[in-house]
Amino acid sequence: MNSSVGLDNMPNTTVRKSSNRHLELPEHLKTYKGVWVFLEHDQGQVHSVSWELLGEAYKLADKLGSEVAIVALGGPEEPLEQFATEAFGFGANKAYVIHDPVLRGYRNEPFTKGLTDLVSKYRPEILLLGATTMGRDLAGSVATTLSTGLTADCTSLSIDSTSRALAATRPTFGGSLLCTIMTLACRPQMATVRPRVMAMPPVQTGRCGQIIHEQLGMIESDIVTKLLNFITDSKSNQINLPYADVIVSGGKGLKNPENFKLVFNLARVLGGEVGATRPCVQAGWVEAERQVGQTGKTVRPKLYIAAGISGAIQHRVGMESSDVIVAINTDENAPIFDYAHYGIVGDAMQLLPALTQACEDHLAQHKSGHMRVVK
Ligand SMILES: Cc1cc2nc3c(=O)[nH]c(=O)nc-3n(C[C@H](O)[C@H](O)[C@H](O)COP(=O)(O)OP(=O)(O)OC[C@H]3O[C@@H](n4cnc5c(N)ncnc54)[C@H](O)[C@@H]3O)c2cc1C
Repeated sequence: MNSSVGLDNMPNTTVRKSSNRHLELPEHLKTYKGVWVFLEHDQGQVHSVSWELLGEAYKLADKLGSEVAIVALGGPEEPLEQFATEAFGFGANKAYVIHDPVLRGYRNEPFTKGLTDLVSKYRPEILLLGATTMGRDLAGSVATTLSTGLTADCTSLSIDSTSRALAATRPTFGGSLLCTIMTLACRPQMATVRPRVMAMPPVQTGRCGQIIHEQLGMIESDIVTKLLNFITDSKSNQINLPYADVIVSGGKGLKNPENFKLVFNLARVLGGEVGATRPCVQAGWVEAERQVGQTGKTVRPKLYIAAGISGAIQHRVGMESSDVIVAINTDENAPIFDYAHYGIVGDAMQLLPALTQACEDHLAQHKSGHMRVVK
């Protein structure tokens, strides 16, 4: 059946033509300027993703010829001004700060109000948040309250040269496609970005900026959510792949979960974390939190050892920014050797125990002060 006949026969169907879509920025939104980063903090510590985002915000602002600002919300006693000073060192020019008792500990309602009020008053062009549990929760409610566009869990950001819009790229359909999304007719343009996808920016010494204090205007009885207690998940910090300095990862080349223990042994000796490819996670050899790659975690360790990993593109995108990549694979044509810094063609089941033993001996010598100095 011809589809137009089908639609004509449907009495109350409205067909939205693409020409009805608003692709032009309305006049009143053209005054929006500047790139903002929401500063995430917990128990006196700023989440590293906020600094990573500041580095990216600085690059975007440079292309747009605008400035970078941070937003810090928190309780009266929280050191938000100190965070702002740190942010100036990472490239921010301004800091919008709200202290209020109801902002002590994250809750969606007061944080949404604080952030949306600031956006409505100061009109940033772009607003970035970390794709953490908090960032994702907050970004969704802020975007819907402001009726603007949000691209979640981005892996790269740039400025589109023709429209000057934020081009936010993210994996979609389980990582099988990368799509670039632009918010053309609404402001601010919002995006959340995965931790560790962006590099940590260098600190620029001697930079300072302006701190702007605002009021929240919300009282406890306005808020439905009550924070009774904060109980740390005993497992949550056990696997911290994105921020590990050393990662030993295993792939299907290890053949079975028993052999995979060799990966754990080497990671233990090196004081590192254990990563894995998707097939190992799917086979139930290791926890899903250990998956590295497009549909897993993005990592940037100082050392990444890949044992029995072919190096497929979906794995590569999650680890190629590692400082040093060492690959162990029996197949000398495995794609991983195209981007590993050091490659060993050999059987991981033999090499992993040998490497573990060698590292153990070396570290023991180092500790007992009997290191031979090689000149
Ligand atoms: C939409 C989508 C999303 C995906 N997302 C991810 C993701 O996030 N992360 C991810 O890792 N994958 C992901 N994948 C899967 C990815 O395409 C690859 O299939 C996967 O990375 C391969 O895993 P592997 O290297 O462990 O296994 P294989 O490709 O089977 O490679 C095993 C390797 O081990 C080597 N080997 C065999 N025996 C030995 C031995 N004794 N010693 C040493 N080496 C040996 C082999 O030569 C081979 O190179 C995704 C796929 C799709 C379609």
